[in-house]
Amino acid sequence: MGILEGKRILVAGVTMDSSIGFATAKVAQEQGATVLISNFGRALGITRRIAKRLPQEPPVLELDVTDADHLARLPELVRDHVDGLDGVVHSIAYGNPETLLGGKFMTGPWDDVAQAVQVSAYSLKSLAEATRPLMGAGGSIVGLTFDATIAWPAYDWMGVAKAALESTSRYLARDLGPEGIRVNLVSAGPLRTLAAKAIPGFEDLEDTWSTRAPLGWDNTDQIPTAKAVCALLSDFFPATSGEIVHVDGGFHSMGS
Ligand code: NAP
Repeated sequence: MGILEGKRILVAGVTMDSSIGFATAKVAQEQGATVLISNFGRALGITRRIAKRLPQEPPVLELDVTDADHLARLPELVRDHVDGLDGVVHSIAYGNPETLLGGKFMTGPWDDVAQAVQVSAYSLKSLAEATRPLMGAGGSIVGLTFDATIAWPAYDWMGVAKAALESTSRYLARDLGPEGIRVNLVSAGPLRTLAAKAIPGFEDLEDTWSTRAPLGWDNTDQIPTAKAVCALLSDFFPATSGEIVHVDGGFHSMGS
C-alpha cells in the first residue's frame, strides 16, 4: 500500500514531462493517490498530451493563478472529478528571463518584478484560498522553492520572488493551521526543466552543484524532489508546517 492511498491531490504547474509537477504526479499515482493536474494558456494542449504519459491519465484543469475567474471556478472544476482534496501542489513560477534574470537585477523593471512576485509567490496564497473549501478535513499544501536565504548568480529577481514565496508559506501555515491544513515547501537543487533552461547563466549554478553537493546531484532527475513533495503530502508529516525541506544533495549545508 502506498503512502498516498486514498488521497485526492491537485498538482498545479505541469507542462512537460520534465516538469517537477509531472514527476510529482507520477510518484503520487504510484503511491496510490487520485491526481488532477493543471496548467494554463497555450501550453494546456501540451499538458493534455503529456498527461497521457502518466501511469493513469489524470484530468487536466485550466488554471491561470493570476486569473480571478479561474480561481473562483476551480472548486467546481475539481468537484467534476473528486469530492474534495487532501493535497495541493504549487509547482508554478515565472519571471521574464529577458528583463529580470541572468544579471539583470539592477535594471529589472517593477512591472515585471510585480508579475514575478504575483505568479511565483502571491499565487501560493491564491491557490490555497481557492482550494480551502475543498479541504474540509484538513490537508497538505506543498510548494517548490530555490533557497532564497542567499543571493545566487543569475537568479536575480526570481530569488526575491522565492523569498516572498518562502515567507508566504509561513503565513499560510499560521492562518490555515487551525483548519488542519499544513503548508510546506521543498527547496530543490537545479533541475533541467523548461523554467530553469530559460534562465540565462543557470548552467553556472548547475556546475557549482556537481562539485559541492556531498551526495552528488543529478540535474536530470526530478524524482528525489517529487518523492519529498509526496512525503509532505502524506500522513508521515502530521505535525510539520511552515517548514522548508531541502532536496539538494546536501548542498545547502556545505560552506564550500
Ligand atoms: P516548469 O516545468 O516550467 O514548471 C513551471 C510551471 O509554472 C509551468 O507549468 C508553467 O506553465 C506554470 N506557470 C507559469 N505561470 C503560470 C500561471 N500564471 N498560472 C499557472 N501556471 C503557471 O518548471 P519547474 O522547474 O518544474 O518549476 C516548478 C517549480 O519548481 C517552480 O516553482 C520552480 O521555481 C521550482 N523550482 C525549480 C527548480 C529547477 O531547477 N528547475 C529548482 C527549485 C525550484 P507554462 O509552461 O505554460 O508557462
